Amino acid sequence: MDHIVVLGAGVGGTMTANMLRRRLDRSDAEISIVDKSTEHAYQPSFYLLPFEYMEPEDQFRDVRGLLQDGIEFVHSGVTGVDPDTKTVALEDGELSYDYLVVALGHRLAPETTPGMLEGWEETDSVYPFYHFEAAMQLRDALKDFDGGTFVVSVPDTSIKCGGAPLKMTMLAEDYFRRQGIRDDVDVVMTKGSDAVFGVSPYREKLEEIWADRDIEAKLNFTVDEIDHEAQVIHSEEGETQEYDLYAPVPPQYGQPALTENSPLTEADTENDGEYVAVDEHTLQHVEYEDVFALGDGCSTPNAKTAAAARKQAHVVLDNLTAHMADKRQTAKYKGYAACPLLTKKGKAMVAEFDYENSISAPVESRMNWIMDVNILPSFYWDTWLRGYDPLP
Ligand SMILES: Cc1cc2nc3c(=O)[nH]c(=O)nc-3n(C[C@H](O)[C@H](O)[C@H](O)COP(=O)(O)OP(=O)(O)OC[C@H]3O[C@@H](n4cnc5c(N)ncnc54)[C@H](O)[C@@H]3O)c2cc1C
Repeated sequence: MDHIVVLGAGVGGTMTANMLRRRLDRSDAEISIVDKSTEHAYQPSFYLLPFEYMEPEDQFRDVRGLLQDGIEFVHSGVTGVDPDTKTVALEDGELSYDYLVVALGHRLAPETTPGMLEGWEETDSVYPFYHFEAAMQLRDALKDFDGGTFVVSVPDTSIKCGGAPLKMTMLAEDYFRRQGIRDDVDVVMTKGSDAVFGVSPYREKLEEIWADRDIEAKLNFTVDEIDHEAQVIHSEEGETQEYDLYAPVPPQYGQPALTENSPLTEADTENDGEYVAVDEHTLQHVEYEDVFALGDGCSTPNAKTAAAARKQAHVVLDNLTAHMADKRQTAKYKGYAACPLLTKKGKAMVAEFDYENSISAPVESRMNWIMDVNILPSFYWDTWLRGYDPLP
């Protein structure tokens, strides 16, 4: 019997394992999924929690309760992969596989920007909100904030959900207005590139909204160092930005278990060897044919989102099962990503695009907010993650 090992029980890994289990007969394939954590977090809540638009107790589920019967959950850290001997090294032992699906996501690395971790740990003004704990601490800090400069920053590494810093900035601006302190707050987002968002026509719509609401986009500002005592951000370009309350997006990288202890990332020349090198359409590894990868930690040049991982899971399902049956792989990932850009409480614009085209209209609506905040989470937990996706 074939043994399929899935690394990571986040969005990509859980969906893929569940869909594989539903498609493959139990007498044909054994499926194991490995994660260092028993908790799965709904990460898109992390920019809503600070404003109390979602509650923390709803954002976590036990991974084991999300898996179809007939999937073995291995609770352990992955420390390396040897695709020549087809083994995964774990913190406590090893696993052999016939086929491997890698979905270990991004590593958050606030410690790689001098002053970011120190600011978070030692002051009451720095909250890298991609960490759940920081998002909750920011909730308290916002309650005490009565004016000054509020800054969000985007690092120069690849990040998951490129829209999250924009949402944090716009929701904060709206929150200050609702608290009656908007005139006492400067709202600033810094970014190393020269546009608030990379894809048209959403970029132009966002520029319009930001101009209307007096939100400053400080572009070509690459965060280099944070002087957490003086509350000043220094950029590589030689500029500075002061802050009273600061919500940085931490730099993000591939997982050390793969970059340092496997050859799977070596051929990822586009991202300096950070991510598992796969064909951008088939999601099969470029050198090891029994290895597939998806989600934030694979080398595809798309916007890293759960929406993208969801689409990719279908492609891995079809191509891996075709490969197992010695058939031609016909499924193609076309770069789909979707990012609901929450512009203020009760309003959102959905940016939906792929490698070639933008798909959705750049329109703010109440319906988009309701979809994202009230409807999508239950689809996420109760259908997609569990491997049911009637409209892939
Ligand atoms: C603040 C924020 C807002 C977001 N908003 C949106 C949004 O609105 N829409 C959207 O579509 N996406 C959003 N995302 C992005 C989305 O959450 C990710 O793109 C998605 O989770 C990627 O799935 P993944 O499976 O690649 O990684 P993950 O879901 O991160 O899963 C990776 C898994 O690997 C495990 N792991 C890592 N290293 C090891 C190891 N060495 N050993 C064992 N296990 C390991 C982790 O514990 C984790 O369970 C947001 C993310 C954040 C942080």
